[in-house]
Amino acid sequence: MAKPVFWNNTKRYYDLKSYWRNRFGGRVYKLPIDAGFTCPNRDGRVATGGCSYCDGRGSRLRESGPLPSVSEQIARGQAYYRKYRGAGQFIAYFQTFTNTYGPLDHLRNLYDEALAQEDVIGLSVGTRPDCVPDAVIQLLQGYTDKHHVWLEFGLQSMHDRTLKMINRGHSRDIFVGALQRVAGKGIQVCTHIIVGLPGETRKDILETARFLAALPIQGIKIHALLALRGTVLGKQYEDGLIVLMTRAEYVDTVCDILEILPPEMVIQRLTADGYRDIFLAPQWAVNKMEVLNAIERELERRNTHQGAAMRL
Ligand code: SF4
Repeated sequence: MAKPVFWNNTKRYYDLKSYWRNRFGGRVYKLPIDAGFTCPNRDGRVATGGCSYCDGRGSRLRESGPLPSVSEQIARGQAYYRKYRGAGQFIAYFQTFTNTYGPLDHLRNLYDEALAQEDVIGLSVGTRPDCVPDAVIQLLQGYTDKHHVWLEFGLQSMHDRTLKMINRGHSRDIFVGALQRVAGKGIQVCTHIIVGLPGETRKDILETARFLAALPIQGIKIHALLALRGTVLGKQYEDGLIVLMTRAEYVDTVCDILEILPPEMVIQRLTADGYRDIFLAPQWAVNKMEVLNAIERELERRNTHQGAAMRL
């Protein structure tokens, strides 16, 4: 079974780099921005304590003093990516905490500021599915005439029992409701999932993949569960209450997920990285390239690719 020609790449899945190249004819980089938001799952509006795996620190930028403005952060990022990666176009990625959690005028000012910067062709806004009122969707829709706009929703799992266990503070139905309100507005949706959450079997994880494959979602980020020092989950790991996946289990499960996802869904991420100073486990996740190579090798061994299971 041949892989889709429109990917125009040498991979066995539709990676973000290929998507940017196909859509914009060159290199595009997402510039992470910390705009000083908080999170309703931490400040008491939804819950306190946050998701069990979340370290709650925000960005390194935030730790090191007053935050630079959005335009300053973009300028710094652009200087780096122009010099070292030959990038010419950029997406302003509002990444830290919940980037729709604030008064509408404040959001508009931040997004407008980002889009006014030279060579910024769009926005990617990371948020929670319970934090996108219609007014925010309308605001983002207003940018889609001239710009490329993504909303990134953390979901992690389709199973309410898991969402409860990790203290997400929202249900699967809230996620589906948010998707329905965003659909047809010209906004692309990327969903984040975590593989290896406590209590989940391979069957549970693949149910999440099948659930997402059937929804109007254009992108996905797949993360391995990481145990980080200072988090609830990190403590559970240190106390021996949870077991993390081995690399082989992770690679095998991710390949199963890729086979289920539709070929048009852009794979924005296949593993998690960073957090070196508070990282506890699993040790194999530290080497991102090795994980990516192992996924590629496993897809090759199976002689399969993203979307292959949809056509069986
Ligand atoms: S919603 Fe995001 S920022 Fe908020 S606690 Fe969960 S992972 Fe952390």
